[in-house]
This record gives sequence, structure tokens and C-alpha cells, in this order.
Amino acid sequence: MNKDTLELSKEEMKAYGYSVVDAVVAHYDTLNDRSPIATGSRKEMDSLFLEEAPEKPSDPKEVLDFVIEKVMDKGAIAAHPKFFSFVPGPSNYISAMADTLATGYNVFSGGWSQSPPAAELEIVTISWLLKIFGFPVKKGGGIFTSGGSMANLTAIVTARRVKCGDDFSKAIIYLSDQAHSSNIKAIRTIGFRKEQIRLIPTDSEFKFSTIKLKNAIAKDRLEGLQPFCVIGTAGTTNTGTVDPLKEIAAICKEEKLWFHIDGAYGGAAILDKKGKELLKGISKADSITVDPHKWFFQPYEMGCLLIRNHKYLKSTFVEKPEYLRDVEGNESEINFYDHGVQLTRRFRALKFYMSLKTFGLKAFRKAISYNIELAEKTEKLLRKSSQWEIVSPATLAIINFRYNPIGNSYSEKELDALNQKISESVLASKEAFLVTTVLNGQVVLRMCLINPRTSFKDVKDTIALCEQFA
Ligand SMILES: *Cc1c(COP(=O)(O)O)cnc(C)c1O
Repeated sequence: MNKDTLELSKEEMKAYGYSVVDAVVAHYDTLNDRSPIATGSRKEMDSLFLEEAPEKPSDPKEVLDFVIEKVMDKGAIAAHPKFFSFVPGPSNYISAMADTLATGYNVFSGGWSQSPPAAELEIVTISWLLKIFGFPVKKGGGIFTSGGSMANLTAIVTARRVKCGDDFSKAIIYLSDQAHSSNIKAIRTIGFRKEQIRLIPTDSEFKFSTIKLKNAIAKDRLEGLQPFCVIGTAGTTNTGTVDPLKEIAAICKEEKLWFHIDGAYGGAAILDKKGKELLKGISKADSITVDPHKWFFQPYEMGCLLIRNHKYLKSTFVEKPEYLRDVEGNESEINFYDHGVQLTRRFRALKFYMSLKTFGLKAFRKAISYNIELAEKTEKLLRKSSQWEIVSPATLAIINFRYNPIGNSYSEKELDALNQKISESVLASKEAFLVTTVLNGQVVLRMCLINPRTSFKDVKDTIALCEQFA
């Protein structure tokens, strides 16, 4: 180890790297047999890790072993087949190694000239996605971001720039009460006041109510305000519900509003036949968020914004004097720092590229179809039982249900407490990660089944466990 230059010898690097790979492989190899649940209080964590920044060096292997044992093996496992909550992170090994390569080479994925192949791979993989989502491949564009939150933020900034220019004091943005919280966060981050946000109620199926949307737009226009953007959701996080995309697209066209679709979770379902049918209209958006680190099986962090007209990204984010345009090189050679917030960016496209090349798109299609069918099978299973009530049916691999045996005399409050308790007991058993959500004021259990390694038996065993606790 050469401490003056922060270097290891060639042999040390190899030994160290192989140990890292061994640990990651052991993780993949054993994760099914471990608990998906993490525990640990701040106090416990402090007692393990809290110390002054060390002035003196330590043995590299000792640090590594400590970290693998105390850090890496102690987190929740979002790729576990019984991790049913939030949106799981099924990931895949090829992409994990691709990330390792990208970091190992420390590729700067900001400007074309720093790494033409890296920029090209982002262009190519984005064009794959454009085609998948029915966006114009030539005119369209996009950018990889840290996640769906940043993709939504990038979309809203672009929409505002295109529709409002510099003065957005009267601009109004519309989204449903089931839209993901990251949208509101983004809207606030970019400086909108509360009065500029319209949260439109959803209907009984948790879909954006287009009548209420139309009414709200009309009212705002009458008051001299400036409607500029509607955010629809293709696969809400709670229930997997897809908003009436075609109808909203028609409203946006007529009203000349930007239509952004948040498909962070559900967008990937377009690779399935039924999913594609459900997502009809998605190609009519001005921009779409998808989150490859969810249902495209990529490791964190990877979100993506697709945009119908790629020029809008550049005209929103470029921060260079116009007179430098001519020395900037070919227009087609994209500097991705001009298309989003980040200047220095990691090489996210690589993992998407390598995993798709390795497994093939067909494998992704199959995995996604399997997940959608698994949720449908789960619904059937629950419907056959007299103990369970389906609160929101299997939609894009999400299902919501609650324990509510036929003929019982529990009050709503008691049912809420009962279902809450079931979830708590499952977590305490450490067998499965299954938490509740609230729909129509009812506490319900929610399963998000986007892991292709989750078997029907995993689901059945978990439901049996719930019944046992109930
Ligand atoms: C997960 C999710 C987001 C946020 O994405 P991150 O990658 O967590 O930043 C946004 N919208 C929807 C619909 C989501 O499911």
C-alpha cells in the first residue's frame, strides 16, 4: 500500500477486488435464505461505527471484512423474493458488475469529448427506450438520472421553461391525489407556491378524474391564471393504477398543456402484452419518467426521463453563451450535462446496455409478464378464501387486500388494527417484508410483485403466515 498516492500494489488490488466479488457473489447466492428485514437503532449503530475520522491507516482487508460483516450483510434486502413492500429492487448481477466497471474506470459521462462511447451508449439505450414507449426516435431524446424523483424534477423544469419562459408567477400544475410524492417535492423544490398546485381527487378506482381536471383548468383560466402542465401516473405506487392517459392527452392537446407521465414504477409493463394495453396513450405524452432501478431490474441509482422533442432539454438546461455554439462540435454529439442538472455524471447507461445485451430484451419481457401473472394468481388465491377481501385488484403486479373474514362483526377500526397487527407480526417474524398502506381510509396489506425470483410458493407461504397471525 502506498499511502502517499493512495495506491495499492497490483497484487493487493487483485486480492482486494476478488474479495469484493466473493462477497457480492455470496450475497446473491445466499439472499433467499436470509431475512429481507433490517433492524438496528441509532444507538446500536453509533456503538458500532461512531468514531473520529481516523488519522492513521488500517489494514485494507480488516476494513473490508468489517464492512462486509457489519454493514453490507445487515441491510434490508430489496432483491429478496419475500420483499413485497414499497417498490422492491430486484437488480441483477451483470448490471452490478457494469456499475463496478463504470466506477473502476471512473468514467465521466457528462460531455461527449470525455468519452464518446459513453455518450453514444446513453444515446443508444435511450433510443431503445424511446422505441419501446412509442416516442419518435429521431426527434425524441432523454437522459438517465439518479432515479424517478430527479427524472420528474427534470421534466417539470423543462415543461415550465417551454410553456412559461421566465415568468411563472401565474403558472398552475395539475396532478392527482395518487401521484407520487416526488412530484410535489419537485414542484416545491423549483419554487412554486402551494397555490400553484392543483391536487385533483381520484375516482373510486384511484384514477385521475378527467372531469374534475377539466373543471379545474377552466376555473383557473377564468381567474387569469396560466395552466401549463398535467402530471399523469402510469402505475401509481399505491395500487398500480394507470390514469386515463388517452383522455388526459386529449385535454392537454386541446388546452396546450405539457403532459408528463410518471411511469417510474409501472412504465416497464409496456413490455408485456396486457401491460401495453393498459398503458395505451403513454406515447402521447410530452415526457415520461421510467425508473430502470425498479422494474427494469437495474441496481440503484438509475432513473430515466424520455422526452418527445429532445431540443427542449437542451434549451432548458444549457448554460453556455450562444457564441460558443460553433466551437461546441457536432450537434449530434450530445453533451449530457446540457440536458439535465448534473455536470459530472456517472456512467449509468453502461449497466442498462450490458444487461440488455447479455440477457436480451425477451428475458425482460418474460420476467415482467411473469410478475403481472403472479399478481393475478395471487388475487385468485385470495378471492377463493373466505378470510380475505381484495381492496384493489392485481394491477401491474401490485395488489391490495385485507383480512376481513366473511360473517365477522369487526368494526372498521378493529379491522384496521387487525391488519396493522398482521403486518407488524410478519415483520417481527423476519420472514417477509410486508407493510400496509391506506386506501379509502382503510388499512390494507400491499404486495408489489416485481421480483422475477419471487415464486408463487413465496406468496402462498406469506399469506399463510398472515392467516396464522390473524
Ligand atoms: C418510485 C417512484 C418515484 C420516485 O422514484 P425514485 O427512483 O425513488 O426517486 C416516482 N414516481 C413513482 C410513480 C414511483 O413509483
